[in-house]
Order: sequence, then structure tokens, then C-alpha cells
Amino acid sequence: MNYDIQTVSNEEILYIHEAGYRRRYISTNATHNRVLEVFEIDQIPTIYLNQRNNKLENIYCLTHCLGHVEFNKNNTWLKALRIPKMTQENLIPYMEHEGFGLFINVFRQLATTCSDLNSNFVAPINYFLMQDQNLCDWQTKLLRMIYDEAFYFNSIKKTTLLNEGYAVLRQTEYINLLNLSVSEKLEIAQIDARLHYKPEQGLNYYSLGRSMWEEVLKQDVSKVLEEYTDVQFLDHYYNETVHEKENVSVVFKGEVIRDFYNVKHLLRKQLSDSFSGIYVNLDVTNNTNKLTLNYISKYYTDVQTLMNLKLGLEKLLCRRVYIKPLRCNPN
Ligand SMILES: [Zn+2]
Repeated sequence: MNYDIQTVSNEEILYIHEAGYRRRYISTNATHNRVLEVFEIDQIPTIYLNQRNNKLENIYCLTHCLGHVEFNKNNTWLKALRIPKMTQENLIPYMEHEGFGLFINVFRQLATTCSDLNSNFVAPINYFLMQDQNLCDWQTKLLRMIYDEAFYFNSIKKTTLLNEGYAVLRQTEYINLLNLSVSEKLEIAQIDARLHYKPEQGLNYYSLGRSMWEEVLKQDVSKVLEEYTDVQFLDHYYNETVHEKENVSVVFKGEVIRDFYNVKHLLRKQLSDSFSGIYVNLDVTNNTNKLTLNYISKYYTDVQTLMNLKLGLEKLLCRRVYIKPLRCNPN
């Protein structure tokens, strides 16, 4: 297995963690205060370790990341990925253009999905790449880079449960092979509890992912590893045993849902919807010549975000833009 290991300062690892990959251009500051490791997917992946880590923390991180290396090497969605080009250095030539910051903000938001919903509801990024007469030269170039970046993050997103579950599973196997003392094992367990307990998320990808992997029959492991996305993984391996063991509940419309069937249904929705939210309505746009976007209401409960998106687009394109909720289910 081919990979790089780099030890970086606390400040740098916080930045990489916040940004998503090294030297990615972002305008916000890191909000976390302790990150032990970042795994960066590329043709040769990189494991970044925080130089403040102690020996056991590094063992913990490396064993976990070896699981990621193995997963990424095999999974169809991840193995072809390359680190995106939206780095601070690469963007310098674009920064002199008026509207550079706005362009990045607006189109990164619109790039939450690269997949069209159907032939009428088209992902905005695909629409603007098709209709590039709306844009000037530097904007088209930048948009292609934003597309590649969005594709990178979306591919990672749709395999997160599989990937984290696999990493945790392999990590346990690797750690068991090491001759650790009782106190070292205890320390490892403490690091594990600290990092993997995430009550605010409602869903612990590490623990749930591992339990689901434990349901995969030996003869099916390579197929799941190579071909599956999280949705398929859930369809096949979220069974009543996993449900009981992980004690999963989902809050839906203010109500806590606990029964197996409904939890599975809601988890499926959550995993399949998490990278879609706003589409260009092609029929309406073409027929009326008014650029019309439809959004799925539950992702945009904040009116201000939509308003800013609309105003930003209008400013960049010098034309009116209409944004409306998607009322019916277009499927
Ligand atoms: Zn991980």
C-alpha cells in the first residue's frame, strides 16, 4: 500500500481539517482546537499527524488510517480521486478579478451536488458548465475547478459510513497485533472514547459503520469494499441486530423515532439526500428565459442564505434569478 506520512504543526493540521485538504483556499478560520490526524485522499494519500501527538496517539491514528488507505485503494468511488486544484497558490492569478470572492462563495454553495435529479432538474454546476456563454473566461476556468472539488468531496461523502466503519474495524485488528501493555491499551481506549463519542451528530459513523461491516459475510467483503456506496451498504447491512446493538434513534419533525423500520427509512433518506439541495429548472428556464432554481425546502430553512445566493448570482450574471421551493417530489 502506497501512502505518505507528514507530521505538521497544530496550526496547520487544524487548517487542513477545516479546509478538507492541504492548502485549500478557504476564507474561514479553523474552529476545532484538537485534531490528531487528517487523512487526505489523493493518488498517493497522505496521513497528516499533529506534531503534538504522543506515541500512542500516533499509533492510534496510523492504525486507523491504514484502514482508510486500504478502503480507498479498493473503492471505485475513491480510488480515482485526485486532490482538487483550488489551493491558495493556484488561485492567485484569479484574485485580481472583480467578484472573485463572491464567485467562489456562490458557486461552492451551488456545487453541493454534481448529479442532476433528472433531465429537468439539473445540478446548477452542470447547467453553468453547459451554458458557459453566461460566464467570462476566468469564471469558466474557475467553475471547472469548483466542479472537480465538488466531485471530490461528494465522492468522499457518499462513502463516509463505509470508509470510517472499515477504518475502525481494521484499526482494532492492527492494534490487537501490537504487544501493548495494559496501561497502553487503556490509554488507547480513552483516545477512542474521546474521538468517537459524538452525541451532537446523533449518528456515530465509526461505531455504526463497524457494526454494519461485522454483518458482511467474508465472501462478500471485496464486493462491498469495491462497489458500494453508503446507501447500498445501509440497504444490505442495516438489520435488526445492528439496530439493537447500536441503539440508533432519529429525530424527525420533533419526534424521536426508534423502531427499526422507520429508523432505517430515515437513515436512508439522510444518506441519499445529503448531497442534493438545489437545482436549475430547465423547462421553466428555457421556456420563460428566466433563470429559475428550485430548492428542496428542508435544506434551506434559512431565508437569508437563499437571498444571499440569489443576490450573489444576479450580481455575477447581471440578470435576474428566480429561486423557488420544489413543491412536489419530482421523482
Ligand atoms: Zn477516519
